[in-house]
Amino acid sequence: MKKITIAIDGFSSCGKSTMAKDLAKEIRYIYIDSGAMYRAVTLYCLQQGIIAEGKIDEERLKAEMAQVKISFQLNGESGRPETYLNGTNVEQAIRTMEVSHQVSPIAALPFVREAMVAQQQEMGRAKGIVMDGRDIGTTVFPDAELKIFVTASPEIRAQRRYDELKAKGQEADLNDILENVKQRDYIDQHREISPLRKAEDALLLDNSHLTIAEQKCWLMEQFNRLTQSKESQG
Ligand code: C5P
Repeated sequence: MKKITIAIDGFSSCGKSTMAKDLAKEIRYIYIDSGAMYRAVTLYCLQQGIIAEGKIDEERLKAEMAQVKISFQLNGESGRPETYLNGTNVEQAIRTMEVSHQVSPIAALPFVREAMVAQQQEMGRAKGIVMDGRDIGTTVFPDAELKIFVTASPEIRAQRRYDELKAKGQEADLNDILENVKQRDYIDQHREISPLRKAEDALLLDNSHLTIAEQKCWLMEQFNRLTQSKESQG
């Protein structure tokens, strides 16, 4: 069967990566978490002292950008891809709050976006890829055959994060989380370069009232409809 490119964009905390990972596994496509790449650049900056006291040494980062090599390798046990920075597994290290707090300003730097988009386009050259992020359907793969834009109300996304933290035994305040969700939505949508927006030809998926199983079913329907109609067209 001819392989296609699948772009999944949307707001923070609406389950994009879970859905993209599951879909890729089901249809045996490569999954790329583009957010992990911006997180890995941020980790590099923290490790090298390029970010100190919240300030970014942009000139230095620009000069060193070519040395930041990001790749993904499948973990044999979990069957999930993990992020590598210059040959070292950083899958856990990029998920810390320290990285989460610094990643947005790094992801807004034009030369960082340019470098990441070029790497992402290279990864998708052979198609057969599911990539999730904020600008995949608009900037990285504007010609993707299947584009999904995922959303859910801020209140529902905040409640999901709250339940997740509570389930891990962590302290959480629903109002604080809601404020944080709304603030990140604002920053992502108002960034100068590649702001978060739905591509005109993307399908809108509001998963506020969908279970994971219902969402998966919907997604498989979209994939099958598209690939089968392509097959019948020859
Ligand atoms: O998806 P995740 O929340 O891990 O992404 C981390 C950050 O990277 C986001 O908050 C966003 O600012 C940035 N990002 C981006 N473009 C992408 C993916 C992520 O700017 N394609």
